[in-house]
Amino acid sequence: MIKENLAEVHKNIEAACARAGRRPEEVTLISVSKTKPVSALLEAYEAGERVFGENKVQEINDKYPQMPPDTHWHMIGHLQRNKVKYIVDKVDLIHSVDSLRLAQAISEEAVKKACDVNILVEVNVAEEESKFGITVDNTLSLIKEIALLPRIHVQGLMTIAPYVEDPEENRTIFSILKKLSVDIAKQNIDNICMGILSMGMTGDYEVAIEEGATMVRVGTGIFGARDYNV
Ligand SMILES: *Cc1c(COP(=O)(O)O)cnc(C)c1O
Repeated sequence: MIKENLAEVHKNIEAACARAGRRPEEVTLISVSKTKPVSALLEAYEAGERVFGENKVQEINDKYPQMPPDTHWHMIGHLQRNKVKYIVDKVDLIHSVDSLRLAQAISEEAVKKACDVNILVEVNVAEEESKFGITVDNTLSLIKEIALLPRIHVQGLMTIAPYVEDPEENRTIFSILKKLSVDIAKQNIDNICMGILSMGMTGDYEVAIEEGATMVRVGTGIFGARDYNV
């Protein structure tokens, strides 16, 4: 089933790219495998997927040694400062940096381990109280501060859009994030790149791609519904 789901998701990504006049290579699919067993990840791996998204440090650490070495890991969930040390040298990208204190912790750990860490700044575009992320208005100033820290590199922006029945309702959210990234890119800040726009999940990734997403984070659409009671 996972293989078929992946084929469907890739087809949808291609169609969304075609509608937007974009190339499918511009969009990276992140298979969000949180709560799923390694057997499910391996099925996706066999189908050709290499990029997996997890939202818990513990889960990345558990699964990391069990997957082939060319597996790429993305931390997409809220990250506590005291857990940074367990993942900085394991993940390609941390999508969820929303404070200077967290960025400082990542930078310090990266210096200690002599590695470079790529991050995205998480923006709470919809300003939902239940969500992490910095406001649109505060994003530029945070980025300017992170830019000065050693061994941490902002590569773009991420947002988690609200859960909606009709994905069209999130189109404005995605276009606001795109505009913000274009505005920040124009500032030409040293050590800041705005190449990545991580937005869109199972319910709305096609709309997100139409609005400029370069990374979509799809879980349910690949692995099926999650069971949090196991
Ligand atoms: C769980 C999760 C996803 C995937 O959600 P689906 O609706 O299952 O596709 C994407 N992004 C983040 C940050 C998540 O925590």
